[in-house]
Amino acid sequence: MKAIRRFTVRTVLPETIAPLARLAGNLRWSWHEPTRQLFQDLDPEIWDASGHDPIRALGSVSRQTLERISSDTALVERIRELDENLEHYLTAPRWYQSLGEDAPRLIAYFSPEYGISAVLPQYSGGLGILAGDHLKSASDLGVPLVGVGLLYQAGYFKQSLSRDGWQQETYPVLDPNGLPLTLLREEDGTPARISLPLPNGRHLMAQIWRADVGRVPLLLLDADVRGNDDAARGITDRLYGGGGDHRLQQELLLGMGGVKALRVFERLTGAPAPEVFHTNEGHAGFLGVERIRELMDTGMNWEEALTTARASTIFTTHTPVPAGIDRFDASVVRHFLSAGLAQSVPTNKVIALGTEDYEGGDPNMFNMAVMGLRLAQRANGVAKLHGQVSREMFSGLWPGFDVSEVPITSVTNGVHVPTWVDPEVTALAKQQLGDAAVHDREWSRAYEVTDEALWDLRRRMRSNLIADVRHRVRAAWLKRGASDAQLGWTDDVLDPDILTIGFARRVPTYKRLTLMLRDPARLKALLLHPTRPVQVIVAGKSHPADEMGKRMIQDLVQFTDDPEVRHRIVFLPNYDIAMARTLFPGCDVWLNNPIRPLEASGTSGMKSAINGGLNVSIMDGWWDEMYDGANGWAIPSANPREGTQTREVHTADQRDDIEAAALYDLLENTVTPLFYGAELPGAAGAAGPSEAPADSLPRQWLEMVKHTLAELGPEVSASRMLRDYVNRLYMPACQSGRAAAANQYQAARELAAWIQKVRDGWAGVSVEHVDSIGISDAPQIGDSLNIQAYVNLGSLKPSDVVVEVAYGKVSETDRLSDYQFQDLSVSEDLSSGRYLYAGSIRIEQAGPFGYTARVLPDHPGLASKAELGLVVNA
Ligand SMILES: *Cc1c(COP(=O)(O)O)cnc(C)c1O
Repeated sequence: MKAIRRFTVRTVLPETIAPLARLAGNLRWSWHEPTRQLFQDLDPEIWDASGHDPIRALGSVSRQTLERISSDTALVERIRELDENLEHYLTAPRWYQSLGEDAPRLIAYFSPEYGISAVLPQYSGGLGILAGDHLKSASDLGVPLVGVGLLYQAGYFKQSLSRDGWQQETYPVLDPNGLPLTLLREEDGTPARISLPLPNGRHLMAQIWRADVGRVPLLLLDADVRGNDDAARGITDRLYGGGGDHRLQQELLLGMGGVKALRVFERLTGAPAPEVFHTNEGHAGFLGVERIRELMDTGMNWEEALTTARASTIFTTHTPVPAGIDRFDASVVRHFLSAGLAQSVPTNKVIALGTEDYEGGDPNMFNMAVMGLRLAQRANGVAKLHGQVSREMFSGLWPGFDVSEVPITSVTNGVHVPTWVDPEVTALAKQQLGDAAVHDREWSRAYEVTDEALWDLRRRMRSNLIADVRHRVRAAWLKRGASDAQLGWTDDVLDPDILTIGFARRVPTYKRLTLMLRDPARLKALLLHPTRPVQVIVAGKSHPADEMGKRMIQDLVQFTDDPEVRHRIVFLPNYDIAMARTLFPGCDVWLNNPIRPLEASGTSGMKSAINGGLNVSIMDGWWDEMYDGANGWAIPSANPREGTQTREVHTADQRDDIEAAALYDLLENTVTPLFYGAELPGAAGAAGPSEAPADSLPRQWLEMVKHTLAELGPEVSASRMLRDYVNRLYMPACQSGRAAAANQYQAARELAAWIQKVRDGWAGVSVEHVDSIGISDAPQIGDSLNIQAYVNLGSLKPSDVVVEVAYGKVSETDRLSDYQFQDLSVSEDLSSGRYLYAGSIRIEQAGPFGYTARVLPDHPGLASKAELGLVVNA
């Protein structure tokens, strides 16, 4: 029988243990081990059955158990202490509170997905996990942040396998009442709502759920409300489910609805208005349009509103893969806007923001990343290399500028350590180094841990993982149609004393899930090596529409099905946070072999590192900047890196062959011998060649583990990332935003008028002639060169521009490299808009030398020289 209505009955807790509701309701339990431990101890069986979900667990304990707990004085005391600890965590001043008045009062962070805990499955992969870690670290550091996202009825899909290894997707519907969420309500108790007009007189309404991530509230919009027609209700059905219109409506809801939800939140809770808006990838870009609408409704013109909104907006780009960027038919965007989403805003102007009106672009497409960049005065990629790749990728938006000047910086991703470090690691650190070292995260003290204890820890975590793997492999085979009687072998899958390699991530083609299968015989030989075998654990979901990804999974699964190797290599279905937390700590080596430079950052290797795993990775993303020769290994890339002499470029097939061979070589000759205790002369971390007795610990390996913990620990942590965001982006954006808003937006109006004037007058600007004086036939280092530039500014004034000379080394083709800039100053007004600019430069380098001059707009309200995309080169 099917129920016609469902309710979730909330448990009423006896008064002495009432704080349990608060401990379960704030997601801080997900990274606070003592609180998790408490829920486990209340009823271990129910805890396991609940999937480690405190709300579900509390909902299923019997009245008798509750009464037993409430009369157990030791437990009641423990609950009280943990509640006090939470209260302190939520209210005590932290790092951010030392920054003073210059720091933003509130930052709004928008993301289409959030990976906070397995109990709130609202993520598909790295982007969501990063957003979750961002909120958690903000909470730890006291950064006043509010998250905005969508609540998807089915989240992302659950993955299982068919008999022949093909990915199957299911979409179990979540009951928000059973999740750690509360509905935002008006004072009269009715759910608070926002509403957006849709074409044909329809409306899209959404209610707002609130999750508490420590100190950080997260607002999730939910369109599954009475009053919406079925199509509107379905808008928040799944994460990355539909295409085209469906995706566009999700993004309109996230961006425009998200700002409206924030305004409701301010009104109902008294929270301040956000001073900085940060959009995690382009999906939420319409938030800028909504803010412009708000400002234009107060009487500003387009240029003023745009200038104001941009000043306090930050855009983070996450993909160097053009296919990873959301693009819509411009006509469809226009169709939706015409419903009156932003009535005071000229539709053409909005469309122009996302138009690919540059070389190589398609002017009929509306590109969310392009809009993101145009709506944000500050933008960043997520690793140093990715910053560089993004500057190249988007350089068309700043024609006339060198790639290095494109105003996209980078903040390298990080991971939330308390979430991703295994409790066993923390326990060992406490035991060997003391509570204070753990509290203050003194990573450098990893060197003091004894080899014996560290090796023992690594083995324990490997064993925990293997127990989990055996359980999962059996369950996966039962789903694939095997019977219990056929599955005895799964009890012996993997071995706690064998070098364990992990590979888990989403399965887009560029991550090359199946690179390890390139030469199956060589992989087999590694797995079955008589004295130095390896075992491999693989996991990952493919996007449901990605046939290529699904085929890669099937290839891998079919390889693992071979009875000859199935005890040494496994594919685990349904990669998620719960699996990940056991997987990272249990693997000795974390493998990462994307096609360089398509992995923007990657974070799974960071989670491995903080648990003492060693990375074996292509030099891409975070690894490109953090590999130091002794904290893991670099898989050499086949195609030349910039700046190298080799010109040889390989086909995709050759490249995969070369890189796979390099991977096998590395594993055979370096990684496995070191793990099994050989002392390799000249190996990373080697003190020098020496013979170790066969039964001793692998000292060099352990040295590398300690080095990894000590050196990478602080660098890969999300608190480093958060501080970078605060110092380098949030604070400057707050200053710009406040400056723009001062005196009823006087500065923004002036800046906007100035920008308009400069754009209008720019066609009249030219560099007519440049001279150098004082150069002899044989210039020497230390010589000065006087530069004179005759510049026509047309209708503009010298105060509107900067005239500068760029000078440095030149190539045979006269391209400047390693150049510096020097401002020139007006030395003569030649009338009718013409000026003589002059200044001198010093030659500091031998060899070919050159210079050029250029004119740029100049205003203190600009965040970078290239911001307006205007430059006149000589
Ligand atoms: C860390 C993590 C990811 C992201 O891994 P990448 O290496 O960045 O691809 C994806 N899914 C889960 C469950 C994770 O924990």
